[in-house]
Amino acid sequence: MYASRRWAAFMFALCVVCYDIALAEDSVAESGGKKPNVVILATGGTIAGAAESGTQAGYTSGAVTIDAMLAAVPGVDKLANIKGEQVANVGSQDMSFDILLKLANRINELGKQPDVDGIVITHGTDTLEESAYFLNLTSKTDKPIVMVGSMRPSTAVSADGPLNLYNAIAVAADPKAKGRGVLVVMNDEIHGAHSLTKTSTTAVETFMSPLRGLVGTANYGKNDYFSRPTWKHTSQSEFDVAKVKKLPRVDVIFACADMSPDLIDSAVSNGAKGIVIAGVGNGNMNKASLDAAANAVKKGVVVVRASRVPTGTVGRDVEVDDDKLGFIASDELNPQKSRILLSLALLQKRTPEGIQELFYTY
Ligand code: ASP
Repeated sequence: MYASRRWAAFMFALCVVCYDIALAEDSVAESGGKKPNVVILATGGTIAGAAESGTQAGYTSGAVTIDAMLAAVPGVDKLANIKGEQVANVGSQDMSFDILLKLANRINELGKQPDVDGIVITHGTDTLEESAYFLNLTSKTDKPIVMVGSMRPSTAVSADGPLNLYNAIAVAADPKAKGRGVLVVMNDEIHGAHSLTKTSTTAVETFMSPLRGLVGTANYGKNDYFSRPTWKHTSQSEFDVAKVKKLPRVDVIFACADMSPDLIDSAVSNGAKGIVIAGVGNGNMNKASLDAAANAVKKGVVVVRASRVPTGTVGRDVEVDDDKLGFIASDELNPQKSRILLSLALLQKRTPEGIQELFYTY
């Protein structure tokens, strides 16, 4: 009895998937029957992860190729003509500026090709928000750029990767996704690169955009958009990494009660050009660390006050006299995204006022 009920539920779910795929086919038909061309740049992560059994927690990230991943997504070929390129195959804890620069340059080549309509990037979820934000600032195209990952490896029971990939391709193939900056599609949701953050170590619903909310939803090829990101991005961005080989060192230091100020001194003596403090509350740190940070500024290091708190903004001159001490307030950017913006900002000489303005603009 129980088995037949489960079978009926499975058949129902299959019908829903088939119906929704039929809807997606309809939308291809509506666009004159011409299927868009989507290029997938694969970088690894859990979406490309594999384990020995379907129920174990341990697995290896970045073990499966893009071709194998696509083979697990029924009906995806109805959405678009798809080409896959393996740019890297790492867990995103190993994502590096080298790989990001490679990705940005490849996106910029593809952006110029008239036969490419959209780009998907598969990526691990751990540092996905940083990569999304980096590419949001360095990609020079209005074509849809959609990042996607998964929380469960490809071999898991109820792997979330195949549907996430299906939805991501559907958004990348959608002309309505153009000009919205880099988007992240996971768990049927569309997030903007500026605002999303990973909030759970294991849950499928891990990405949230606490301050600004969703850009939209993506459901079996049917996309709804609620908003456009208001910060500058992609084709309006002033950051150009075409000739950049290396980014300046910027360290993030996590504040806590009774924090050790010598972490700041150590970052400076190890060559950091910028320091982001993941401050307590409104970007605060203890008095000894404020003194160390002010000393760092005197030595020419740029100090940004961000917050370890997951939502809210860090404002200038609230409890800390930024004007006097020469600090930058991160506004809405969390510490890890502040580090990305500061690394790009430090590619050229700028005043503290100029850097503060970047935090309000991007
Ligand atoms: N550690 C993995 C990664 O970021 C986790 C994931 O993808 O969900 O690559």
